[in-house]
Amino acid sequence: MYTSTELMDTLTILCDAFGSRFGGTPGEKQAADFLKAKLEAYGLQNVHLEEIHYEGWRRGTVSLEILEPIQRTLPCISLPHSPPANLEAELVDLDEGAPDDFDARADEIAGKIVLATSEVNPRGVKRWIHRNEKYGRSLLAGAAGFIFVNHYPGYGPATGGIGEDGAGLILGISLALEDGRFLQRLLAKHGTVKLRLTSSDVIEPMVSWNVIGDLPGTGQSDQIVMLGSHYDGHDISQGAGDPASGTVAVLEAARVLAQYAPDLPCTIRFALWGVEEIGLIGSTQYAEKHADLLDNIRFYLNMDSAGVIEHKDIELNKWENLAPIFAGWRDEMARDFRVGQSINAHSDHYPFLMAGVPTGGINQVRRKAFGGRGYGHTAYDTLDKVEERGVAGSGRFRRPPCPQNCPSPSLARPTPQP
Ligand SMILES: [Zn+2]
Repeated sequence: MYTSTELMDTLTILCDAFGSRFGGTPGEKQAADFLKAKLEAYGLQNVHLEEIHYEGWRRGTVSLEILEPIQRTLPCISLPHSPPANLEAELVDLDEGAPDDFDARADEIAGKIVLATSEVNPRGVKRWIHRNEKYGRSLLAGAAGFIFVNHYPGYGPATGGIGEDGAGLILGISLALEDGRFLQRLLAKHGTVKLRLTSSDVIEPMVSWNVIGDLPGTGQSDQIVMLGSHYDGHDISQGAGDPASGTVAVLEAARVLAQYAPDLPCTIRFALWGVEEIGLIGSTQYAEKHADLLDNIRFYLNMDSAGVIEHKDIELNKWENLAPIFAGWRDEMARDFRVGQSINAHSDHYPFLMAGVPTGGINQVRRKAFGGRGYGHTAYDTLDKVEERGVAGSGRFRRPPCPQNCPSPSLARPTPQP
C-alpha cells in the first residue's frame, strides 16, 4: 500500500491536466467526472454528481493607477466575486487590518480605498483574522474599494473570494507585498494618495458539482460518518496544496477503506465539494438540500489541504466530549496527533457545524508554523510544492500491532494489490 503511486498520480492529473478547477472553467467539470470515475473504480456505491447552481464569477481585466501625487500603474489582480467597477478615491492605510483599528478609524475610511495586508494575527490578535473580515469591516465603514496586500515577500498577490452569500458589494483587488509597501511609503510621505481602480469582471449564473460516494454499512444502522474536501482551486494557480492535496487524501481514504474495511457498522460517505473558494457554496447547498439527513451524520471530518498541513492534528469545532474518543483512537493507531478545539467559518465543515452536526478537520493544532497560507491562494501553489510523504500521511491509516497478537479479520485477508 505504501508503494502505491496512486496518490501522486491522481494529484498530478488534477493539477496538470485540469488546471485550477476554478468554478466556471472546463477543468472543473473534467475534474468532477474524473473524481466520480475514481470513486466508482474504488468500488464505492451510489457514486453521483449533485448540481450546484450559484452566482459565478469570471475574471476580466483590472487596473490600479496612481493619480496623485505621482502617476504610475501597479500590477494587481481582482479578488473573486468582486463586482465590475470604475472608481477614483483616496487611499487609507489600515496596514495589518486589526479589528480595533477599523473601529478607531471608521471616520477616515468612508469614501476611501482601504489597504490591508494578509497578516493573519494583526497586532497580535489571537485568532485568524480572515481577508473577508477585513473586507467586511471596510464595507461597513463605507469604503469605496479594498486593496489586499500579501504579507509574504516574493509570492506575488494573494487571491481569495470576497462577499457574503454571493458577490461582493465593492471592488477588492490584491497586490504583491512589494507594491503594497510602495503605496504605504507614498502615503506616509505625501499624506494623500489618489487612485483609480477599474475592472471588468463578470458575475453570472453558473453550475458546479459536488461528487458524492458511499461505502455502505452492513447493519441496520442509518448512521453516516462523512469525510470531505473541496476540489476547486483558485484560477491563478493549480491549487495543488489548497485543496488538491486534501482532495486526494479523501480519495485515498476511500480506496484503502474499500479494501480493508468491508464490514462497516455504519455508512462512510465521501464528499468532494465544488466551489468552496468563493463561499463554501457546494457544501452549503448539500447541507440545505439534505437537511433531513443531517441528524444521521455522526461526524463530518474536513480534509481541505490536508496533504500540506505539516502536523496533521485533529481540530474539533468545540465538541469537548469527543476529545477523549479521538485521543483513544490516537493511542490505538499509534499516531502522533494532537486534539484541539476551535471554531472558524472558512472551510466546508462550517455549514455542517451550523446545522448542529459534530465536525472537525485535519489541521495543525500546535501553532509553531502558524502565520498564514504560505503559497496557498498564490500563483505558486503548484504541484512541485507538494511532498508525497505529506499527502500520504493524511490519506492512509496505519494499523498498529495488536498488543495481544490477536489475528484481526481485516489483517488476515490476503494483501490486495496496490
Ligand atoms: Zn481550501
